Amino acid sequence: MADPFGLEIWGEGNFLIESGEVCVNTGVRPSLLSLTRTLRTQGLTGPLLLRFPHLIGKQIDRLFHAFEIACKELSYTGAFRAVFPLKVNQFPNFIDTLMEVSSAYHYGLEAGSKAELILAMTKTPKGAPITINGFKDREMIALAFIGAKSGHHITLTIEGITELETILEVYEEFNRDTTTPIAPNIGVRIRLHSTGIGAWAKSGGYSSKFGLTSTELLEVYEMLRSHDLLPLLSMVHFHIGSQMGEIAPLKKALREAGNIYAELKRRGAENLTAINIGGGLAVEYSQHTSNADRNYSLKEFANDVVFLMQEIARSKGVPEPDIFTESGRFIAAAHSVLIAPVLELFSQEYHENSLRLKAVNPPLVQELHDLYRTINRAHAREYLHDALDHMESLLTLFDLGYIDLEDRSNTEILVNLIIKKAIRLLEDEDTDELKRLQNRIQEKYLVNFSSFQSLPDFWGLGQHFPVMPLSNLDRKPTQPASIWDITCDSDGEIAFDADKPLYLHDVDVEAEEYFLAFFLTGAYQEVLGMRHNLFTHPTEAVVTFDEAGEPHIERIIEAQSLMDVLEDLDYDTDTIDRSLKQGIEDSPLLAPKEKEQLLGKLYLYLSENSYLKTIQSSHAPAHKGKEL
Ligand SMILES: *Cc1c(COP(=O)(O)O)cnc(C)c1O
Repeated sequence: MADPFGLEIWGEGNFLIESGEVCVNTGVRPSLLSLTRTLRTQGLTGPLLLRFPHLIGKQIDRLFHAFEIACKELSYTGAFRAVFPLKVNQFPNFIDTLMEVSSAYHYGLEAGSKAELILAMTKTPKGAPITINGFKDREMIALAFIGAKSGHHITLTIEGITELETILEVYEEFNRDTTTPIAPNIGVRIRLHSTGIGAWAKSGGYSSKFGLTSTELLEVYEMLRSHDLLPLLSMVHFHIGSQMGEIAPLKKALREAGNIYAELKRRGAENLTAINIGGGLAVEYSQHTSNADRNYSLKEFANDVVFLMQEIARSKGVPEPDIFTESGRFIAAAHSVLIAPVLELFSQEYHENSLRLKAVNPPLVQELHDLYRTINRAHAREYLHDALDHMESLLTLFDLGYIDLEDRSNTEILVNLIIKKAIRLLEDEDTDELKRLQNRIQEKYLVNFSSFQSLPDFWGLGQHFPVMPLSNLDRKPTQPASIWDITCDSDGEIAFDADKPLYLHDVDVEAEEYFLAFFLTGAYQEVLGMRHNLFTHPTEAVVTFDEAGEPHIERIIEAQSLMDVLEDLDYDTDTIDRSLKQGIEDSPLLAPKEKEQLLGKLYLYLSENSYLKTIQSSHAPAHKGKEL
């Protein structure tokens, strides 16, 4: 069966389907469902974020390998270096793992704020590069000097003339009493003439927030020279914007940056040795070949960068620069998977057994019922049109008071069932009409997660994340699906889109657990995630594999409890706690025994997170835990 979830498009071989389940494609190939169950038996409920260090390692290997090959093939004489931009994911379970798996590469960190710089200075091994971008004040610059003086290889990229003025002052202050001055290196971020593309295009181009114009570059050069600090100038930097879908703008930017490097070099910037090409290397998020996110491969990307740098260096007669990248999304996106249980399917009220047919029905309802029973391949389209026609008439009859609420309910159910049957019968016809009809019968899957917390770029930018169920993959999914999160916000819906449709299985979640997994969530989502409705970061865990290929679940961080969330908002939780308890103790409605019981329950609830815990399921099989 063809994979309806496009795993071969976005999966990079990281996951595979075995026995109807999604499995991690390493070691003993555990299924995501088995890992999820293991965590849930430990009482960890609600959504789970699983991190896979081997996938971080894989991306770093791929990046370094691609550039190593490109440099070798072209006999490139500059070095390749890389840093991870902290803004993409600053969480300790990610960063600590990142530094462990990258130790062979002198991989460093990029910081865009003081807090990130502190992290970079603590986590980057000595000898690996640290780059600093973004707007800086005197304190941030001073921190960079402290980093340099403690032996770090730091490059301060300046975004404007005033930053350089502050650097010169701090230089004086920090080196006043010494004969061997130490300072961070200086990089210049250039304002590209060429623009980026896509949702993040504002990072590049003349109207960009960042970077120096040619006039400012010349001014910076003169200022450094006149202070005898030209030797600090070591890097030319640009960043084209994230998730670059096409390679062409990068090539333009590389030519621009390469020529600026060569010009400054020829002018006399002797220690200028590096070009930093920023981030932007895209990730394929699409589940459908018709909407691919990216038109180039990693190999093409690396080859273009190395080739163009070499070409410019040769034609201008300057040494080939070291190449730095700050790819973040490419490194981090694949490492984490968000897994959340489906709580409910909403249009299950449109089931045959919900019909309330009478002994004598209105003729049109009776006819709908006949259409439903007898619809077949040959007449599917005709019957479907009749059914839609009847529905219009029946709804009008209801408005005029000729049929009752039960007739109307039967109409809705029967038409829905007929559309479903017709779609199944006409499955291989790809007509616009069918697409429109799918919109009408789509199933709403209520999922125990918050898209605001866990997929903020979906909310903010319409970014698509690959989604698929963990199980049932040996069955063809047939329900056009919309995903609802549990926030009380209508934006918390990933609506069915006929152009890139998602189909899920028709399951009875009371009888069978059905989990959805969202992939490629490792870049940007976690720290941008917001506590809308006070849903917190999901419970997270790191999954490593030992030599025998067995998975181990480590470094579990539970989702915050209700009280922790309130405390984060600076509520006085002691007062809240006291007030709730007082409410029970003082209540005239309760006997002492009951008060004790309620206090016990309250105590338990306050220590839990705000994701939904249970669904009412009196008829669920007893052996299935219904902890959701
Ligand atoms: C955000 C950012 C990056 C990372 O970009 P990705 O698209 O995630 O690779 C790199 N450099 C700078 C300066 C940035 O602002």
